Amino acid sequence: MTKRITVLSQETANQIAAGEVVERPASIVKEMVENAIDAGATDIRVELEGGGCRSITVTDNGSGIERDDVALVFERHATSKISRMEDIYTTGSFGFRGEAMPSIASVAKVEMLTRRADDLEGTKAVVQAGFTEGITPAGTPAGTQIRVTDIFANVPARRKFLKTEATEQGACLDAVTRIALARPEVRFTVTADGREVFAAPAAKDIEQRVGMVMGSDFRDHSLAVYGGKGNASLRGFISTPSLTRSNSRGIYLFVNSRFIRDSSITHALLSAYRQVIEPRRYPAAVLFVDLPGDEVDINVHPAKLEVRFKNPQEIYSLISKTAAQGLAGASLPGTPADSFAYRLEPRETASASSGYWRPKERPSRESVPHGLYSLQNLERAVNSDVLPHVSERQQPSFTADREDISRQEASFGGLAYLGQFAGTYLVFGGSDGLVMIDQHAAHERIILERLKASGAQQTASQPLLVPEVVTVTPGQVALLEEALPLLDGLGLELEIFGRDAVALKAMPACLPHIPAREIVSDLADQLQDGNLSRSLRERKEKILASLACRAAVKARSALSPEEVAALCRDLEATPFNTTCPHGRPVSVRFSLSEIKRMFKRK
Ligand code: ADP
Ligand code: MG
Repeated sequence: MTKRITVLSQETANQIAAGEVVERPASIVKEMVENAIDAGATDIRVELEGGGCRSITVTDNGSGIERDDVALVFERHATSKISRMEDIYTTGSFGFRGEAMPSIASVAKVEMLTRRADDLEGTKAVVQAGFTEGITPAGTPAGTQIRVTDIFANVPARRKFLKTEATEQGACLDAVTRIALARPEVRFTVTADGREVFAAPAAKDIEQRVGMVMGSDFRDHSLAVYGGKGNASLRGFISTPSLTRSNSRGIYLFVNSRFIRDSSITHALLSAYRQVIEPRRYPAAVLFVDLPGDEVDINVHPAKLEVRFKNPQEIYSLISKTAAQGLAGASLPGTPADSFAYRLEPRETASASSGYWRPKERPSRESVPHGLYSLQNLERAVNSDVLPHVSERQQPSFTADREDISRQEASFGGLAYLGQFAGTYLVFGGSDGLVMIDQHAAHERIILERLKASGAQQTASQPLLVPEVVTVTPGQVALLEEALPLLDGLGLELEIFGRDAVALKAMPACLPHIPAREIVSDLADQLQDGNLSRSLRERKEKILASLACRAAVKARSALSPEEVAALCRDLEATPFNTTCPHGRPVSVRFSLSEIKRMFKRK
């Protein structure tokens, strides 16, 4: 039996279309703030209640709307910004589809107050779930104020998809941040339940605005870049290798002042960093690409978050070359920033990385430092030779003591240590085969298990002598605040320190020293990515795993035989020592018979 075809009611059609534009409170904030900018506003105030889930109010000092046009605001495909298809290539406005306001009004209650500066009287409009309830004269300051409540009241399915208020508030603040970065001349204020959580006074230029919005860490660890190719130009700021993030959220891309996501541009940027930051770390950046309107199609995504370039190759090379030049110029004169070779082979003993194993050697008495064996000194020496800007990174130490080492050679599972290969893999051999250990994966697992074991004890947390204040984004403050009890349970004691900073007061005692800035910024990234359907236990594990990853000795750093011995002993005493916290193997074994087979021997 076939079903008959019917035309959907206007209301249903609008609700369905709204799904594309209005995904969550942050989408409403984005559309309304963009409308305010399109209306020429220089002062925009956003008020959130319940993280934007209960209500969102945007007040602007823009052009206002004529009373006769007010009804049209909520009509689909009604816009004051373009009249012909071609206009979208030349328009400087954010909007042109005439879809946002009708979409918002179809899934919420919208109350609008608006007045043009020259009109004596303003207008009030109330629209609920797609129905206009009234358009009446009203007194109001020049400009427009739109208050949205009952968000998704008539679409319970969507309401269910909302995350916690802190997460939604974070997303709303991100939406404002993106717009604020590209519009330095506009003043932005955001309050959450009456408390000011974001403030960006009018700035004189992009640089000043970037400093305000991205926080002092980025300001202190970034460099300006400029470049051009064909008709396209690039300007912006990229982080130095000393500032990295655990995901790509700190990368803001703008094309003709519009925030976009573009995996190809992100990739181009990462390619410039490949040689100077560790794998799976990301830079932070604010990049503005400007090009003629007919060389980019902005009409390929309902929320205009993606664009299509006429010459994507050209854009790719513009980004990767400009960033690479910037990074190269930032290093000390005469020291190539992109040369990890120095870090790989700082001493002749590290020559294993060139593809041959180093013969087993007994550490000479003099070369054995006193006290704890530590990678710290080595790393510091190496880094300061080549990459002075990463020298502040401290490496963890293994808890080997001197007496032990002089008595015992490095071995694993009864196999003798042969050497380090590719600066990453520790190779062991014996009568029945070969074992390779991934040093980073192994250390990561050791630290994670230690963190988990110490989590149960009260004494596991070590107060910092001086609490370290770290800047984060305003959106992340809310997330960290919400997570305080969770973090406390992990031995991480934080205190919220104003709109865009937190103080780290204590951290797990067993955690080898990682700079507070990195701990906090990684945590914030994690929480932002946090999937709430995960159980509390899983969320805790994820946080611990990311700490372990930060603290673990890096791939591509030379280890002395003493350090290898300490690592192996720790590893043998660690549960779950066959995989790293990400599930990758810690060691790979080749039996003698396998090796013989490879050589076609019997
Ligand atoms: P678009 O922005 O694509 O034109 P919208 O649905 O977002 O479509 O808005 C519809 C119209 O409502 C806009 O074209 C504009 O004329 C008017 N409008 C919306 N918000 C404002 C505002 N804050 N100030 C002035 N006019 C506005
Ligand atoms: Mg719009």
